[in-house]
Amino acid sequence: MPAEPETPGKSGDPDDKGQGFWKRFSKTLESGRQAYVADLKEVFGRPALDDAFWDDLEASLIAADVGVATTEGVVANLRRQAAGAHLRTPAQALRYLKTELGREMVARPRALNLEGSPAVLLVVGVNGSGKTTTIGKLAHLLRAEGRRPLLAAADTYRAAAIDQLRLWANRAQVDVIANQPGSDPGAVAFDAVQAARARGADTVIVDTAGRLHTRTDLMEELRKVRRVLQRLDERSPQETLAVLDAHLGQNSAQQVKVFQEAIGLTGLAVTKMDGSAKAGVVLSIEAELAVPVKLVGIGEGVDDLNRFDPEQYLDALLRMEESR
Ligand code: GDP
Repeated sequence: MPAEPETPGKSGDPDDKGQGFWKRFSKTLESGRQAYVADLKEVFGRPALDDAFWDDLEASLIAADVGVATTEGVVANLRRQAAGAHLRTPAQALRYLKTELGREMVARPRALNLEGSPAVLLVVGVNGSGKTTTIGKLAHLLRAEGRRPLLAAADTYRAAAIDQLRLWANRAQVDVIANQPGSDPGAVAFDAVQAARARGADTVIVDTAGRLHTRTDLMEELRKVRRVLQRLDERSPQETLAVLDAHLGQNSAQQVKVFQEAIGLTGLAVTKMDGSAKAGVVLSIEAELAVPVKLVGIGEGVDDLNRFDPEQYLDALLRMEESR
């Protein structure tokens, strides 16, 4: 088995790409637009665990898009701890919250399954969610980890999608296998796997259509692509990743549920966590879909995607220390 590639951001070098990524991630959450970060800081900075604290904590977590059900669970748990006198101050509540959420999130398996020759990553999502961009950035990330990815343009529905994928392949310096617009997506996936084998590429990332207005056709098409891949290797696709837009908050989970029910998902890639996105959405999406977030995107640049790191995420989401 090849040595585990070094994940950017794990080397401890403050100048490496991963550290830069999480610094930018943290910054994006703390920017002026992120009112909920200021709210959470204020709430956790208070002196007492009184009724106003619990009410405002709940409101701030919901404002951060943590989701009503998750928020209620978290707050009920904290209240139980406080009633049992395990927690006496908001600062202790914050530490407990970080530890508890961290324990849960770290326990979820998030590594991408890349076992296969080639490993096939089927990428699905609604048009506009950031699918093509994510595929380009993922190819770049995997290349940086020493892998040899190849892209498959199986969104043959839109000519623009094929062009867009070519553009990203260029940026990430990887090959792309494409056919005419309107051609059979399963055939493109098939050709891409064969090409990967012939060229010694170890990972195939398959772009797929995301036109939700013809939902039934789309799901049937995706099942067909999957059947073609399974005929080539029964373990394939190693990953079925749904891309979702953090800007849509809770609604993005609803969109992706359709894919989860129709074809099953092994992981999520949450895009657009930059800007005005409410980063708490990761917690509610994971709770709602029971699918782990494996990748997170914070912009349109080739470096703006990373493997999801729950500890870095919680640290950025609940970074309050400076304010106390
Ligand atoms: P697709 O239709 O799902 O393939 O979506 P695209 O990849 O074409 O992305 C739709 C739009 O979202 C484009 O304008 C992208 O540049 C933008 N986009 C994608 N990912 C991100 C991200 O992480 N942050 C921001 N700010 N924009 C993104």
